[in-house]
Amino acid sequence: MTSRDMAGSIGGGCLCGAVRYRVDGPLEPISICHCGQCRRAHGYLGAYSAAAPDRLTVTDTAQLGWYRSSASAERGFCRQCGSPLFWKPAHGRHISISAGSLDQPTGLVIERHIFVADRADYEVIDPQAPNHWPGGEAP
Ligand SMILES: [Zn+2]
Ligand SMILES: [Zn+2]
Repeated sequence: MTSRDMAGSIGGGCLCGAVRYRVDGPLEPISICHCGQCRRAHGYLGAYSAAAPDRLTVTDTAQLGWYRSSASAERGFCRQCGSPLFWKPAHGRHISISAGSLDQPTGLVIERHIFVADRADYEVIDPQAPNHWPGGEAP
């Protein structure tokens, strides 16, 4: 739990400001994702918090685009500046929110690294560090 879990609302948006959103209610700690899809979409690592879908309100939607990146998820991005914003799984139990798109300060902490087994060959990670999982969940 972080202070943000108990807090009210936090804003966020893309680089150019065309897409803005607000999250009312608790945000999950941050997961750093080392998967190949996040690598291409983010340029290196994906960093995501998450919230219940009904807690997210996209207030400026005109440039919000969705790309179906797999059978089980879509990625939301700004059509104007290309910023990655959301990762929405088909099961709908939560929506992941790009940590870098959140306004500062977030009050969040990095909790875990996921899909470490899929990391790029130039990534150096500390194998002794906790919460480095080979896949999307704890082994
Ligand atoms: Zn933008
Ligand atoms: Zn990923």
